[in-house]
Amino acid sequence: MGIEIMREKCVGCAACVKACPFNAISMKDGKAVIGPECTLCGACVKHCRFDAIEFERPRGKEVDHSSYRGVWVYCETRRGKLMHSALELVSRARELADELGEEVGAMVFGSGAPETFTVLGDHGADVVHFSSESRFDEYLTGNLAPLVSGLILKHRPGIVLFPATHTGRDLAPRVAASLAVGLTADCTGLAVQDGLLIQSRPAFGGNIMADIVSPDVRPQMATVRPNVFKARGGLGKKPDTFEVNLNEGMIDATVRIIEIVRTSKEGVKGIEEADIVISGGGGMKNAENFRVLEELAATLNGTVGASRVAVDAGWRPRSDQIGQTGKTISPKLYIACGISGKIQHQVGMRGSEVVVAINKDPSAPIFKVADYGIVGDLFQVVPALNEAFRELLGGG
Ligand SMILES: Cc1cc2nc3c(=O)[nH]c(=O)nc-3n(C[C@H](O)[C@H](O)[C@H](O)COP(=O)(O)OP(=O)(O)OC[C@H]3O[C@@H](n4cnc5c(N)ncnc54)[C@H](O)[C@@H]3O)c2cc1C
Repeated sequence: MGIEIMREKCVGCAACVKACPFNAISMKDGKAVIGPECTLCGACVKHCRFDAIEFERPRGKEVDHSSYRGVWVYCETRRGKLMHSALELVSRARELADELGEEVGAMVFGSGAPETFTVLGDHGADVVHFSSESRFDEYLTGNLAPLVSGLILKHRPGIVLFPATHTGRDLAPRVAASLAVGLTADCTGLAVQDGLLIQSRPAFGGNIMADIVSPDVRPQMATVRPNVFKARGGLGKKPDTFEVNLNEGMIDATVRIIEIVRTSKEGVKGIEEADIVISGGGGMKNAENFRVLEELAATLNGTVGASRVAVDAGWRPRSDQIGQTGKTISPKLYIACGISGKIQHQVGMRGSEVVVAINKDPSAPIFKVADYGIVGDLFQVVPALNEAFRELLGGG
């Protein structure tokens, strides 16, 4: 078990040298040679067109579980900036690690990485593994997956958490497949019991909650929905930081970024990151009527969301849906317009600091979870609110 170059098959093309993230392969006498830096990440294998690399890793129960310790988090950055989900996951990792008596490790990549050390330590990270290379400022699976797999293989954390964002949902399965371990996607709850990670998530279209464990493999890996756990700072830790020694020439020949087209308006945050979310439901009646919510959102610098009824009707994209089978949000202000407030919607928005509900039915369940309720026709109330805010904020 391990990795070996079949000298008789190696033609000396050096493709594996370029593919290794950790500078572990060099050329000697026209043949590739694997050095001690090899983490067994396997990145070289798929780049060898001559089947000259023999590779086998221990799997499942063959792995010594006692050598895997620590709770690690893949900390996502976008355009060099740390995402809030990273702080939520590091905070939860801290709590889990304290129960296990283990350390919290963070992985962060991109030019802004060194600026994240203080805040990651403040939320509980003991150790940060990083690269500040700008090639990681834009996400590319082929660049990151072998790097993350290699770090995991080298340091052996018992648990690895990824955010269930587009990036995390793309990266985590690649890493899990390359490590031949399982992955629980889109968790809304995490706990430890008898040393195992209990990974909770909605199943069967949200009709039941399932608790999932991975007793046979290490690490135990999960993606976790943003906004489910609170970011808890104030710990003031000074994490040990380790820069990953990367192969300068490493390239993923299969994918190249030609152009990045951003579909959201410049300056408008997604619903998971926004401080103010204004949502519409069945009471909006059609897609065009969402214009009144867009106008209020523009005044308040907020973002428009939706209930499942509005999404199922095709009035809003699926990415706007809040609730059990949509996104979980925790804005400072949530304004629900024409939304009844069924339990499946509530589970996605009850982390909001202040909830305002506008509904013409005084018995709508949304009023039970609202801090402020306005009983009335949203098509009168929302434009009136918009006008009042514009005056207040000096825009009208
Ligand atoms: C397994 C499962 C998962 C689900 N997941 C989700 C989920 O992730 N997110 C989600 O939202 N739902 C989800 N649902 C659906 C959920 O049960 C409700 O059906 C849905 O949330 C209702 O959406 P709504 O309140 O916008 O629409 P409706 O039920 O149509 O309610 C419309 C509301 O608007 C009010 N109204 C109408 N006209 C006006 C007006 N002019 N002014 C003011 N108020 C007005 C009405 O009084 C009513 O309260 C799920 C259901 C199941 C079974």
